[in-house]
Amino acid sequence: MNVQRYLLLLTYLCCGVLSIAYAEPDSDSRDVQPKEARHARVGTAREANVTFSAQRAFAMLEKQCEFGPRPPGSAAHRETQNYLFTELQKYANSAALQPLEYKVGTETLHLNNILAEFGPMSGETVLLAAHWDTRPIADHDPKPENRETPILGANDGASGVAVLLELARVFKTHPPPRRVVIVLFDGEDYGKTADDMFIGSRFFARNLGKWKPDYGILLDMVGDKNLTLPIEANSWNANRAFTAAIWNRAAALGLAPFQQRLGPAIMDDHVPLIKVGIPMVDIIDFDYPYWHTIEDTVDKCSPKSLEVVATLVISVVYDGL
Ligand SMILES: [Zn+2]
Repeated sequence: MNVQRYLLLLTYLCCGVLSIAYAEPDSDSRDVQPKEARHARVGTAREANVTFSAQRAFAMLEKQCEFGPRPPGSAAHRETQNYLFTELQKYANSAALQPLEYKVGTETLHLNNILAEFGPMSGETVLLAAHWDTRPIADHDPKPENRETPILGANDGASGVAVLLELARVFKTHPPPRRVVIVLFDGEDYGKTADDMFIGSRFFARNLGKWKPDYGILLDMVGDKNLTLPIEANSWNANRAFTAAIWNRAAALGLAPFQQRLGPAIMDDHVPLIKVGIPMVDIIDFDYPYWHTIEDTVDKCSPKSLEVVATLVISVVYDGL
Protein backbone atom coordinates (compact mmCIF):
# COMPACT_ATOMS: atom_id res chain seq x y z
CA MET A 1 0.00 0.00 0.00
CA ASN A 2 1.28 3.47 -0.52
CA VAL A 3 0.34 6.61 1.25
CA GLN A 4 -0.10 8.62 -1.91
CA ARG A 5 -2.87 6.25 -2.93
CA TYR A 6 -4.44 6.61 0.49
CA LEU A 7 -4.23 10.38 0.45
CA LEU A 8 -5.54 10.57 -3.11
CA LEU A 9 -8.41 8.32 -2.13
CA LEU A 10 -9.14 10.49 0.88
CA THR A 11 -8.90 13.61 -1.28
CA TYR A 12 -11.34 12.23 -3.83
CA LEU A 13 -13.78 11.23 -1.13
CA CYS A 14 -13.67 14.59 0.56
CA CYS A 15 -13.63 16.67 -2.62
CA GLY A 16 -16.78 14.80 -3.60
CA VAL A 17 -18.44 15.99 -0.44
CA LEU A 18 -17.08 19.51 -0.82
CA SER A 19 -18.15 19.88 -4.43
CA ILE A 20 -21.71 19.01 -3.43
CA ALA A 21 -21.59 21.55 -0.61
CA TYR A 22 -20.27 24.22 -2.96
CA ALA A 23 -22.59 23.41 -5.86
CA GLU A 24 -24.99 26.26 -5.13
CA PRO A 25 -24.83 29.02 -7.79
CA ASP A 26 -23.00 32.09 -6.56
CA SER A 27 -24.20 34.43 -9.31
CA ASP A 28 -27.74 34.50 -7.92
CA SER A 29 -28.64 38.19 -7.64
CA ARG A 30 -31.12 37.46 -4.81
CA ASP A 31 -28.27 36.12 -2.73
CA VAL A 32 -26.89 39.08 -0.81
CA GLN A 33 -24.90 36.99 1.65
CA PRO A 34 -21.15 37.65 1.29
CA LYS A 35 -19.57 34.82 -0.68
CA GLU A 36 -17.12 33.84 2.04
CA ALA A 37 -19.91 33.49 4.59
CA ARG A 38 -21.29 30.48 2.72
CA HIS A 39 -18.03 28.61 3.09
CA ALA A 40 -17.28 26.77 6.29
CA ARG A 41 -16.02 29.26 8.85
CA VAL A 42 -12.43 28.59 9.79
CA GLY A 43 -11.23 28.80 13.34
CA THR A 44 -8.70 31.18 14.82
CA ALA A 45 -5.64 30.51 16.94
CA ARG A 46 -7.32 32.22 19.86
CA GLU A 47 -10.40 29.98 19.67
CA ALA A 48 -8.25 26.91 19.23
CA ASN A 49 -6.13 27.80 22.26
CA VAL A 50 -9.22 28.20 24.41
CA THR A 51 -10.57 24.85 23.26
CA PHE A 52 -7.29 22.94 23.73
CA SER A 53 -7.46 21.22 27.12
CA ALA A 54 -4.14 20.36 28.74
CA GLN A 55 -6.00 18.04 31.12
CA ARG A 56 -7.63 16.14 28.24
CA ALA A 57 -4.27 15.85 26.50
CA PHE A 58 -2.70 14.54 29.69
CA ALA A 59 -5.54 12.04 30.14
CA MET A 60 -4.68 10.70 26.67
CA LEU A 61 -1.04 10.35 27.70
CA GLU A 62 -2.23 8.36 30.73
CA LYS A 63 -4.63 6.29 28.61
CA GLN A 64 -1.80 5.16 26.31
CA CYS A 65 0.28 4.19 29.34
CA GLU A 66 -2.62 2.18 30.78
CA PHE A 67 -2.17 -0.21 27.83
CA GLY A 68 1.33 -0.85 29.21
CA PRO A 69 4.55 -0.83 27.15
CA ARG A 70 3.56 -0.72 23.45
CA PRO A 71 6.38 -2.29 21.41
CA PRO A 72 5.57 -3.80 17.98
CA GLY A 73 4.30 -7.35 18.22
CA SER A 74 2.70 -6.95 21.67
CA ALA A 75 -1.01 -7.14 22.48
CA ALA A 76 -0.75 -3.62 23.93
CA HIS A 77 0.60 -2.37 20.58
CA ARG A 78 -2.47 -3.74 18.76
CA GLU A 79 -4.87 -2.34 21.36
CA THR A 80 -3.20 1.08 21.25
CA GLN A 81 -3.41 1.17 17.46
CA ASN A 82 -7.16 0.51 17.62
CA TYR A 83 -7.60 3.20 20.25
CA LEU A 84 -5.64 5.84 18.32
CA PHE A 85 -7.31 5.08 15.01
CA THR A 86 -10.78 5.19 16.60
CA GLU A 87 -10.00 8.51 18.30
CA LEU A 88 -8.72 10.12 15.09
CA GLN A 89 -11.71 8.87 13.09
CA LYS A 90 -13.98 10.82 15.46
CA TYR A 91 -12.41 14.13 14.51
CA ALA A 92 -10.73 13.92 11.09
CA ASN A 93 -12.15 14.56 7.62
CA SER A 94 -10.80 11.08 7.00
CA ALA A 95 -8.34 8.69 8.62
CA ALA A 96 -6.39 5.74 7.27
CA LEU A 97 -3.90 3.10 8.34
CA GLN A 98 -0.72 2.69 6.33
CA PRO A 99 0.36 -0.91 6.95
CA LEU A 100 3.89 -2.17 6.40
CA GLU A 101 5.84 -5.31 7.10
CA TYR A 102 9.41 -5.23 8.33
CA LYS A 103 11.74 -8.20 8.70
CA VAL A 104 14.16 -8.33 11.62
CA GLY A 105 16.14 -11.60 11.64
CA THR A 106 13.54 -14.36 11.39
CA GLU A 107 10.74 -12.18 12.72
CA THR A 108 8.29 -10.12 10.62
CA LEU A 109 6.89 -7.03 12.30
CA HIS A 110 3.43 -5.85 11.29
CA LEU A 111 3.44 -2.10 11.68
CA ASN A 112 0.96 0.67 10.92
CA ASN A 113 1.39 4.39 10.50
CA ILE A 114 -1.86 6.16 11.33
CA LEU A 115 -2.95 9.12 9.15
CA ALA A 116 -5.68 11.72 9.57
CA GLU A 117 -6.61 14.81 7.52
CA PHE A 118 -8.17 18.09 8.64
CA GLY A 119 -9.13 21.44 7.14
CA PRO A 120 -9.38 22.22 3.43
CA MET A 121 -8.50 19.40 1.05
CA SER A 122 -5.97 21.35 -0.99
CA GLY A 123 -3.51 24.21 -0.69
CA GLU A 124 -0.71 24.64 1.82
CA THR A 125 -0.33 21.50 3.90
CA VAL A 126 1.22 21.15 7.34
CA LEU A 127 2.36 17.71 8.52
CA LEU A 128 2.15 17.07 12.27
CA ALA A 129 3.95 13.93 13.41
CA ALA A 130 4.78 11.85 16.48
CA HIS A 131 5.64 8.18 17.08
CA TRP A 132 3.14 5.91 18.82
CA ASP A 133 5.23 2.78 19.45
CA THR A 134 7.45 2.41 22.51
CA ARG A 135 10.93 0.96 22.93
CA PRO A 136 11.04 -2.80 23.58
CA ILE A 137 14.17 -2.50 25.75
CA ALA A 138 15.20 -0.10 28.54
CA ASP A 139 18.79 -0.20 27.31
CA HIS A 140 19.75 3.03 29.12
CA ASP A 141 18.44 1.94 32.49
CA PRO A 142 21.02 2.43 35.25
CA LYS A 143 20.31 -1.11 36.50
CA PRO A 144 21.64 -3.81 34.14
CA GLU A 145 18.86 -6.23 35.17
CA ASN A 146 16.25 -3.83 33.69
CA ARG A 147 17.86 -3.38 30.31
CA GLU A 148 15.81 -6.06 28.50
CA THR A 149 12.53 -4.74 29.94
CA PRO A 150 10.19 -2.74 27.67
CA ILE A 151 9.70 0.92 28.62
CA LEU A 152 6.33 2.53 29.40
CA GLY A 153 7.13 5.53 27.20
CA ALA A 154 5.03 8.18 28.97
CA ASN A 155 7.28 10.86 27.55
CA ASP A 156 9.02 8.90 24.75
CA GLY A 157 5.99 8.07 22.65
CA ALA A 158 2.78 8.96 24.50
CA SER A 159 3.45 12.70 24.99
CA GLY A 160 3.63 13.76 21.32
CA VAL A 161 0.67 11.54 20.43
CA ALA A 162 -1.38 13.00 23.30
CA VAL A 163 -0.83 16.56 22.02
CA LEU A 164 -1.85 15.56 18.49
CA LEU A 165 -4.97 13.65 19.64
CA GLU A 166 -6.20 16.68 21.58
CA LEU A 167 -5.35 18.92 18.62
CA ALA A 168 -7.47 16.64 16.41
CA ARG A 169 -10.46 17.48 18.61
CA VAL A 170 -9.60 21.18 18.35
CA PHE A 171 -9.33 20.96 14.54
CA LYS A 172 -12.79 19.38 14.39
CA THR A 173 -14.27 22.15 16.55
CA HIS A 174 -12.44 25.00 14.78
CA PRO A 175 -11.50 23.89 11.23
CA PRO A 176 -8.01 25.17 10.43
CA PRO A 177 -7.52 27.52 7.45
CA ARG A 178 -4.84 25.28 5.92
CA ARG A 179 -4.72 21.56 5.32
CA VAL A 180 -3.30 19.54 8.21
CA VAL A 181 -2.19 15.91 7.99
CA ILE A 182 -1.45 14.16 11.27
CA VAL A 183 0.76 11.10 10.98
CA LEU A 184 1.52 8.82 13.91
CA PHE A 185 4.58 6.77 13.04
CA ASP A 186 5.08 3.17 14.09
CA GLY A 187 8.42 1.44 14.67
CA GLU A 188 10.38 4.57 15.61
CA ASP A 189 12.00 3.11 18.69
CA TYR A 190 12.30 -0.58 17.77
CA GLY A 191 15.89 -1.55 17.05
CA LYS A 192 19.06 -1.85 19.07
CA THR A 193 20.75 0.25 16.39
CA ALA A 194 19.52 3.02 14.08
CA ASP A 195 19.31 0.44 11.24
CA ASP A 196 16.08 -0.90 12.75
CA MET A 197 14.64 2.39 14.00
CA PHE A 198 12.47 5.06 12.29
CA ILE A 199 10.86 2.20 10.35
CA GLY A 200 7.47 3.84 9.88
CA SER A 201 8.79 7.27 8.95
CA ARG A 202 11.26 5.84 6.43
CA PHE A 203 8.43 3.87 4.81
CA PHE A 204 6.19 6.96 4.79
CA ALA A 205 8.92 9.10 3.19
CA ARG A 206 9.68 6.40 0.57
CA ASN A 207 6.04 6.12 -0.44
CA LEU A 208 5.03 9.76 -0.70
CA GLY A 209 5.08 9.68 -4.49
CA LYS A 210 4.29 13.11 -5.91
CA TRP A 211 2.37 14.25 -2.85
CA LYS A 212 4.38 16.26 -0.37
CA PRO A 213 3.43 18.40 2.61
CA ASP A 214 4.86 21.93 2.47
CA TYR A 215 6.45 21.67 5.90
CA GLY A 216 6.05 19.80 9.14
CA ILE A 217 6.55 19.57 12.87
CA LEU A 218 7.60 16.42 14.73
CA LEU A 219 6.80 16.18 18.44
CA ASP A 220 8.87 13.74 20.50
CA MET A 221 9.44 13.72 24.26
CA VAL A 222 7.44 16.89 24.88
CA GLY A 223 5.85 15.88 28.19
CA ASP A 224 8.78 16.30 30.61
CA LYS A 225 7.76 18.31 33.69
CA ASN A 226 11.06 20.13 33.40
CA LEU A 227 10.65 20.99 29.71
CA THR A 228 13.64 22.39 27.80
CA LEU A 229 13.45 22.73 24.03
CA PRO A 230 16.64 24.01 22.43
CA ILE A 231 16.79 24.19 18.62
CA GLU A 232 17.36 20.66 17.31
CA ALA A 233 20.49 20.70 15.17
CA ASN A 234 19.43 18.40 12.30
CA SER A 235 16.37 20.60 11.73
CA TRP A 236 18.55 23.72 11.87
CA ASN A 237 21.22 22.40 9.52
CA ALA A 238 18.66 21.28 6.92
CA ASN A 239 16.33 24.33 6.86
CA ARG A 240 17.62 27.31 8.85
CA ALA A 241 15.04 29.90 7.86
CA PHE A 242 12.15 27.55 8.57
CA THR A 243 13.60 26.35 11.88
CA ALA A 244 14.34 29.93 12.97
CA ALA A 245 10.76 30.91 12.12
CA ILE A 246 9.41 28.20 14.43
CA TRP A 247 11.63 29.14 17.38
CA ASN A 248 10.99 32.86 16.77
CA ARG A 249 7.27 32.19 16.90
CA ALA A 250 7.71 30.40 20.23
CA ALA A 251 9.62 33.45 21.53
CA ALA A 252 6.90 35.81 20.27
CA LEU A 253 4.33 33.70 22.12
CA GLY A 254 6.42 33.87 25.31
CA LEU A 255 6.90 30.09 25.49
CA ALA A 256 9.91 29.97 27.81
CA PRO A 257 10.79 26.23 27.41
CA PHE A 258 11.75 26.96 23.78
CA GLN A 259 15.36 28.08 24.16
CA GLN A 260 17.07 30.27 21.58
CA ARG A 261 20.21 28.17 21.47
CA LEU A 262 21.37 25.24 19.37
CA GLY A 263 20.93 21.86 21.06
CA PRO A 264 22.19 18.43 20.01
CA ALA A 265 21.50 16.78 16.64
CA ILE A 266 18.96 14.01 17.22
CA MET A 267 18.30 11.11 14.86
CA ASP A 268 14.52 10.98 14.77
CA ASP A 269 11.54 10.57 12.45
CA HIS A 270 12.08 14.01 10.89
CA VAL A 271 15.35 12.95 9.22
CA PRO A 272 13.82 10.62 6.56
CA LEU A 273 11.36 13.41 5.70
CA ILE A 274 14.09 16.04 5.46
CA LYS A 275 15.95 13.68 3.12
CA VAL A 276 13.03 13.74 0.67
CA GLY A 277 12.88 17.53 0.74
CA ILE A 278 10.27 18.36 3.38
CA PRO A 279 11.27 21.15 5.80
CA MET A 280 10.73 19.56 9.22
CA VAL A 281 11.54 20.61 12.75
CA ASP A 282 11.91 18.18 15.62
CA ILE A 283 10.55 19.63 18.85
CA ILE A 284 12.23 17.38 21.38
CA ASP A 285 13.46 17.57 24.97
CA PHE A 286 16.46 15.28 24.94
CA ASP A 287 17.56 16.44 28.37
CA TYR A 288 15.41 13.79 30.05
CA PRO A 289 17.12 11.62 32.66
CA TYR A 290 14.58 8.78 32.22
CA TRP A 291 15.15 8.35 28.47
CA HIS A 292 15.04 4.64 27.55
CA THR A 293 14.72 3.57 31.18
CA ILE A 294 11.86 1.88 33.02
CA GLU A 295 11.39 5.21 34.84
CA ASP A 296 9.88 6.96 31.78
CA THR A 297 6.52 7.06 33.56
CA VAL A 298 3.47 9.35 33.86
CA ASP A 299 4.68 11.06 37.05
CA LYS A 300 7.66 12.55 35.13
CA CYS A 301 5.29 14.41 32.78
CA SER A 302 2.96 17.40 33.13
CA PRO A 303 -0.13 18.79 31.38
CA LYS A 304 1.53 22.22 31.26
CA SER A 305 4.36 20.93 29.06
CA LEU A 306 1.87 19.47 26.58
CA GLU A 307 0.04 22.81 26.52
CA VAL A 308 3.21 24.82 25.79
CA VAL A 309 3.93 22.72 22.70
CA ALA A 310 0.29 22.76 21.60
CA THR A 311 0.24 26.59 21.77
CA LEU A 312 3.13 26.74 19.32
CA VAL A 313 1.55 24.22 16.95
CA ILE A 314 -1.81 26.01 17.06
CA SER A 315 -0.15 29.30 16.14
CA VAL A 316 1.62 27.74 13.14
CA VAL A 317 -1.49 25.92 11.94
CA TYR A 318 -3.96 28.81 12.29
CA ASP A 319 -1.76 31.86 11.65
CA GLY A 320 0.78 30.32 9.26
CA LEU A 321 4.47 31.12 9.37
ZN1 LIG B 1 13.00 6.62 22.22
